[in-house]
Amino acid sequence: MAAAPVDVVVIGGGPAGLTAGLYAGRARLSTVILAGPTPGGQISYTYRVENYPGLHEPTTGPDLVERLVTHAAAFGAELDRREATAVDFSTHPYKVHVKDDVIEAETVIIATGSRNRMLGLESESRLLGRGVFVCATCDAALYEGLRVVVVGGGDSALQEALDLTRFASEVIIVHRRGELSACSCLSAQAEENSRISFMMDTVVEDIVGDTYVEAVQLRNRETGKTKTMKTDGVLIAVGWEPNSELFRGQLELDTEGYIVADGVKTSLPGVFVAGDINDRRYRQLVTASASGCMAALEAEWFLTRGG
Ligand code: NAP
Repeated sequence: MAAAPVDVVVIGGGPAGLTAGLYAGRARLSTVILAGPTPGGQISYTYRVENYPGLHEPTTGPDLVERLVTHAAAFGAELDRREATAVDFSTHPYKVHVKDDVIEAETVIIATGSRNRMLGLESESRLLGRGVFVCATCDAALYEGLRVVVVGGGDSALQEALDLTRFASEVIIVHRRGELSACSCLSAQAEENSRISFMMDTVVEDIVGDTYVEAVQLRNRETGKTKTMKTDGVLIAVGWEPNSELFRGQLELDTEGYIVADGVKTSLPGVFVAGDINDRRYRQLVTASASGCMAALEAEWFLTRGG
């Protein structure tokens, strides 16, 4: 006999997915979290978590993930380290494909997150979490009195640079073109900030450092001149990409690839979104967890009272 459909299948094992699993498990719904081989998502790359309410003793991203995994399991959610490879939302129960298997689901919570667009340098991935970082709100306090290079010229780069100046003594925005694409209001604030300077028409060709960032290698695109500049950190802010490829053709996506949703509800009954997959504004640990909670409550209400 085929297995009964699972009440809640959570796709994604970051803070949003793990919190959704915790809440669904606690509501005594059969719950599978498809977390992939390495649960945790973006927060795993954060060396120091100090802004999660109640966690006033700072911890590391990986430690927090381990706690979330343990917490969700304690309430009966099953952590499955396989990845979803395809979904079929054309009939209900919904089908979630994993390697060599198909899981039927009464409800699905999509928490696959988003990823920072990166420069694609070998040194960048090797030094991620060791001076290369992607979120000032998360990590700026680690750069008190230090120099940080911010790569990018859009709203994120300028916002992150401004946030960094509360801690860093010097922030250098390195942008590949001659003009910024950020809104004039952020550009003006950055230009007026004495801790921020700009290197335009400049690309980061390499990040230097064995175990921690020591410098960046730069090339001016106009003159072709190269130089190595010492820095304590490199913040990459060259845009975001939602991890929504799996859902193309199954759910409505907007022009940037975000799933179209009303809060945590997608256009399909019983399919919900949580975390950064649907958040282009806040992208915080606490907001991801909160939306995981909201999605799980919606799943519970969908199953017990039809929505
Ligand atoms: P974005 O607007 O796409 O800007 C990306 C920036 O990175 C551009 O300057 C781009 O340069 C540069 N870039 C892209 N790929 C690069 C590469 N491989 N190497 C070097 N530079 C590269 O992304 P975003 O700034 O993250 O903003 C995303 C969305 O969030 C926007 O809609 C934005 O308005 C919004 N947002 C708003 C706020 C706010 O209102 N406070 C803050 C943050 C984000 P080119 O111009 O040469 O392509």
